[in-house]
Amino acid sequence: MKQLDQFIEWMHGSVPKEVSRQQFLQWAGRGITAGVVGNFAASCRTGQPTTNSPSITYTASDGTRVPSSSWQTPPAKVPDNPEQPIQLEEWKAKTEKETDTPAPLPNDQRVGYAIVGLGHLSLDELLPAFGESKKSKVVALVSGSPEKMRKVAQQYGVKPESCYSYQDYDKLKDNKEVQVIYIVLPNSMHAEYTIRGAQAGKHILCEKPMANSVQECQAMIDACKKADRKLMVAYRIQYEPNNRMIRQMVQDQKYGTVKFIEAVNNQNSANPQHWRHIKALAGGGALPDIGLYCLNTIRYLLGEEPTEVFAYQYSTPGDPRFREVEELMSWQMKFPSGVYASCATHYGVHEARRYRVYGERGWMELSPAFSYKGIQMQTSHAEGKIERVEQPKLTEKNQFATEMDHFSECIMQNKQPFTPGEEGLQDQRIMEAIYQSAKEGKPVKLPEIKTKDTFRGPMPKEA
Ligand code: NAD
Repeated sequence: MKQLDQFIEWMHGSVPKEVSRQQFLQWAGRGITAGVVGNFAASCRTGQPTTNSPSITYTASDGTRVPSSSWQTPPAKVPDNPEQPIQLEEWKAKTEKETDTPAPLPNDQRVGYAIVGLGHLSLDELLPAFGESKKSKVVALVSGSPEKMRKVAQQYGVKPESCYSYQDYDKLKDNKEVQVIYIVLPNSMHAEYTIRGAQAGKHILCEKPMANSVQECQAMIDACKKADRKLMVAYRIQYEPNNRMIRQMVQDQKYGTVKFIEAVNNQNSANPQHWRHIKALAGGGALPDIGLYCLNTIRYLLGEEPTEVFAYQYSTPGDPRFREVEELMSWQMKFPSGVYASCATHYGVHEARRYRVYGERGWMELSPAFSYKGIQMQTSHAEGKIERVEQPKLTEKNQFATEMDHFSECIMQNKQPFTPGEEGLQDQRIMEAIYQSAKEGKPVKLPEIKTKDTFRGPMPKEA
């Protein structure tokens, strides 16, 4: 009977599952638990308990035999459409925060990605994010370090024959599993690898900044158009729920007309030898790397394009990190609706990544705003004698998974990405105007663009 007790406990998940297939067959064969096994098998097939459950018992911690609990909750609803989540039975009051049950696509229906460059972003964020993705899977790697790539391939289940050196990059053309090439290389390499990737017949997801010049951005767009491939710039913030909500509040004028925005993105860098401190590789310093988040996010919140920028640049004399690239860039932007934005980005102070949007009747803030995790909203407005300061907490989503899944969906449904190459090109135009202004010490005008969201595709329905 001891084995039967073990089996019943195993079925109810209360002890480690130390039951071998052989033991299971022995028990089932003896007929001792025929009813239980039949029931168990039936419930596995249908996903629902059968109605004629035999009364079974298990041994409680005090050694007494007690009846095993029977099913009480109604069965889950299982929709046929793979993209609709399984609906579990309700148990929380409507007043509690809603939760989401993910609905991932089966592996063979997901879009296959090749990750190019196995540095910090790929190893720390992107590869783990595939675990939370619903429509994307990693199927190939490209790296200059075979040893590192072998290990990463083992960790994430990438086949050895789908691992490529940079010399073999163009051979991705023959890998049918790869639909998207995700470029995660130093900025100066984005253009070349995008163009070659498109020529190899693959869609391109390119990290920000898109490239180091307007000419490079345009060449990337042209190459993808010519090859009839999609191009998206990885602006994860535009797919992040808190930032989406602030955009909605700005567009709805929740606190009246927005008049002023301030934004900061700072971090302290350490290694003067790193490509981020070499102008030919990085294109610039704090501005294209992290200041870009202030620029791109403000454009996203407003849906407008700046008509004028005025900038100031500074680097601590003698600091080896800033021989070639700027330490600080501080700049203002004027928008057609009259909004004025003040931004700063710094490579030599402790991390801070925040913005605040000031409307006539209240303000909205994210701090941090641009981090990978832990984004926190705060709003403030007056109600009679109360200054109501609120900190709404949204369910956190993996920004990289959300972003990749958006691109995968665009490929599956043949849609334009929300942040296509044109969006990256516009940021590059503005950054070049910011550098020009800092150099000349005077404002630089940009062409007025009257339409909203001019450089974006259709907005994804949900983040
Ligand atoms: P990293 O230095 O950690 O990784 C870069 C990889 O490129 C390394 O594996 C390196 O070996 C490889 N590489 C190939 N050729 C190289 C060369 N000639 N010189 C130097 N390295 C070379 O950098 P990272 O932080 O992973 O950044 C990669 C890209 O991702 C950059 O464009 C960066 O702006 C972007 N990024 C985006 C985010 C985001 O939140 N979206 C965050 C970090 C970085």
